[in-house]
Amino acid sequence: MHGILVIADGLGGRPTDTKEGKTCLEAAKTLALDELARQGALGLVDPIGPGVRPGSDTAHLSLLGYDPYEIYTGRGVFECLGIGMDVRADDICFRANFATVEARKGEYIVTDRRAGRIDSGQQDLARALNEIEPDAPGVTFEFRASTQHRGALLLRGSGLSRHVGENDPHATGKAALLFEPLDGSEEARRTASALNELVEKSHAVLGEHPVNVARASDGQAPANYILARGAADCPDIPSIESMYGVRGAVIAGGALYRGVALACGMTSITVPGATGGLDTDLRAKAEAAARALEDYDYVFVHMKGTDNAGHDQDAAAKTAFIERIDAEFFTPLLEKVDMAMTHLAFTGDHTTPIDFGDHTHEPVPVLFAGPNVMPDCTEAFGEREAGRGGLGRFSGRVLPMLLGYNNWSPKFGS
Ligand code: ZN
Ligand code: ZN
Repeated sequence: MHGILVIADGLGGRPTDTKEGKTCLEAAKTLALDELARQGALGLVDPIGPGVRPGSDTAHLSLLGYDPYEIYTGRGVFECLGIGMDVRADDICFRANFATVEARKGEYIVTDRRAGRIDSGQQDLARALNEIEPDAPGVTFEFRASTQHRGALLLRGSGLSRHVGENDPHATGKAALLFEPLDGSEEARRTASALNELVEKSHAVLGEHPVNVARASDGQAPANYILARGAADCPDIPSIESMYGVRGAVIAGGALYRGVALACGMTSITVPGATGGLDTDLRAKAEAAARALEDYDYVFVHMKGTDNAGHDQDAAAKTAFIERIDAEFFTPLLEKVDMAMTHLAFTGDHTTPIDFGDHTHEPVPVLFAGPNVMPDCTEAFGEREAGRGGLGRFSGRVLPMLLGYNNWSPKFGS
């Protein structure tokens, strides 16, 4: 047997998404998903729990079967893992990015939080950063650039703490913050001071770097500052393989989602054209997912475009992306996969309604299909139909349910 878990980020919507009172998912033409709904069963899943407004990282942990209240330490560690950094037990990890600042009266005023969405030269800048020698004794660090302005920062050394704030003011025209210790510990104080020193030195290195000199002369925003947030250390997560005895692969364009899956013991498969955006190559992902099942027991595929369109408050883009998921991912996938030997689950990690433009608490439709799934009476995939679905309403744990249909679950008790 094989398992396929597909999560479309921010899939869920509200009746206010469209003028007709339909959610984007309900408005989208989804022939393949509607057919799967007829064959299988639907329900509503509260990604973390009823009334909890999820972040993507905590929601994914919960859908994969973990208790985020118990294991979540922060986002940074998943960003570091997701871009391929070697994270060790006591490392302190951050989500980081290049930004543009102007020095004014001893402060650094952030003029562009994304350094003009820089799209070349980031690796050169990262290399220059990594040559900085920190003053703090016994502390080393690594900055890794990923796409555009994005990256991750890892601090290594004994006596460090994740209980530090961030230096991102989350607005342009404001001064970059200093990292502050969030508790009274010596470790937090030492970590904050190492970070402040590092950022100060990085501004000097970046400011005079040839990449930025060239950007400035082209009238582009120089990537002359590092903003870091989401401090986290490595959570103690038992692997899915250790609990269920099966091996999984992840296909995700976004580093965060790859990082969560890697932390749970999955292996990442890189798919050229998987961008983590609305322009992602969904056919390539479908092909890679089908191929992954030759080597792995199950595969987890993540798509980000739905959430991006939700944050952009663009109903047409969200609906169009859902239609692409149906036509360019599920349709070719179902031609390649033997559904008599496969269970499939499709859901979102939270609702991202158009009117609000951010994550909200509502449950998300979930679909299960495959030979052991008791069919219900639903005939289309959407929020209202899912509310009538045979699976009812439950919280998280979609991957354990999927693995359970394949008879891979350990028994609780005797
Ligand atoms: Zn999300
Ligand atoms: Zn989001």
